[in-house]
Amino acid sequence: MTFDTLGLSPKILQAVTEQGYTTPTPIQAQAIPAVLKGNDVMAAAQTGTGKTAGFTLPMVERLLASANTRPKGNYARALVLAPTRELAAQVAESVSQYSRNVPIKSCVVFGGVKINPQMQALRGGVDILIATPGRLLDLCNQNAVRLDKIELFVLDEADRMLDMGFIHDIRKVIDRLPKVRQNLLFSATFSQPIRELAKTIVNNPIEITVNPPNSTATRIKQWLHPVDKKAKPELLIHLIKKHQWKQVLVFSRTKHGANKLVKQLIGANLSASAIHGNKSQGARTRALAEFKSGEVRILVATDIAARGIDIDQLEQVINVDLPQVAEDYVHRIGRTGRAGAEGCAVSLVAADEYDMLQSIERLIKNTITREFVDGFEPDHSLPESRLDTRQPKIKRTKKPRPLTGSGQNKGQHQEKDKSFAGKKTPTNKKRPQQKASGQGKAQEQGQNPNGKPRAQNRSKPSGAPSGNTANKNRTRRPARQQ
Ligand code: AMP
Repeated sequence: MTFDTLGLSPKILQAVTEQGYTTPTPIQAQAIPAVLKGNDVMAAAQTGTGKTAGFTLPMVERLLASANTRPKGNYARALVLAPTRELAAQVAESVSQYSRNVPIKSCVVFGGVKINPQMQALRGGVDILIATPGRLLDLCNQNAVRLDKIELFVLDEADRMLDMGFIHDIRKVIDRLPKVRQNLLFSATFSQPIRELAKTIVNNPIEITVNPPNSTATRIKQWLHPVDKKAKPELLIHLIKKHQWKQVLVFSRTKHGANKLVKQLIGANLSASAIHGNKSQGARTRALAEFKSGEVRILVATDIAARGIDIDQLEQVINVDLPQVAEDYVHRIGRTGRAGAEGCAVSLVAADEYDMLQSIERLIKNTITREFVDGFEPDHSLPESRLDTRQPKIKRTKKPRPLTGSGQNKGQHQEKDKSFAGKKTPTNKKRPQQKASGQGKAQEQGQNPNGKPRAQNRSKPSGAPSGNTANKNRTRRPARQQ
């Protein structure tokens, strides 16, 4: 199949050719004609499948064809909502590439940078607005953008949106949209919470699934090296030098861990930089640009910051730590082997990550091949994998008994408080229910750098386990577990 059979006009096809694409990916082959016909679409497509072009190309085409030819002051005609700044920037890049030969004006807005230039950019109106939820609502509240004439609404990476606790912001955005519009919803999986959300967005949608949910792409070679925790940085340096990997994306679980690792890599004469939520937007953009251009060989990223990173032919992804959420493993390794290319994903796994490994292997329905590296055999052995594909057991949360002042009940409440003792932020002390990972991650995104009430109101997806019962090793699919 070729792109010119999909119903796109010559100028848009020309932009596709200029990108060097000849054959549509499966998601593009299905989504493009469906969107062009004006249908609502709900697509389960993992990152790396070419989904961005799957909605961007027909969106540009439809806006060109529709009667409303020019955007008016402060109005947007199409809205793409993305969970992270990086993904928003990535989508914006695709939009400008595919609309380069046609009169379509686009604009991207996200938090962590000054709002004034964004307000100015919106003043004359835009055809396509790409936004993260927090900054979009800030702009709406300041009347810098009007959403009541949106013709086409795209919710990208809806599953990640829910994981990050954006549900309330999404609802607020939807409330501002006109009733009649075309809707496209993209998500890595169609979990129950996604279906619930979809009911409030899409109308009689065409459903498209291009990959079985959570299966890792077979073109990605995966293996793991059992190793002691303290030897991980040394093993990483050893592997990069031994295999002479040119461009390596390394995942670290924490921002602190990412910074520390960068210092160790630089100390070993390897050029490296970190990308995570504590870095300014400028530093993140610079780190990504240097990594893309090859100036920096190793990019150490946390999960959230890495979302949206799209580098053509990235060969190597290394998990220095396994992610705490099994689904993130799939997202991480999806950075490699993109759109048909081959890739390798290597994990360095210590004995104390066994439970996480089990969750990941259960999710991908496969055990990951193990390879010991000479000189790095662990003192603390990693137990053998047992592939258990049963659904994880449901843990029921005990309802706290009403306070009666009895010693027993006091004890319960003291224990509850203790579980938050490790959290440093005063906000968490005051509002223990906000310990949910979603909020922390939203903050990592810097959607609200001032810590204004919007972030405090943001809560977990409905049905998520309460903060004090959160289990380190659970996978984050709340509804399935409850
Ligand atoms: P996405 O899933 O949208 O993040 O896209 C993943 C990668 O696939 C990006 O690097 C795109 O540039 C690339 N890509 C998108 N469509 C095609 C295509 N038809 N042929 C080859 N590569 C593509």
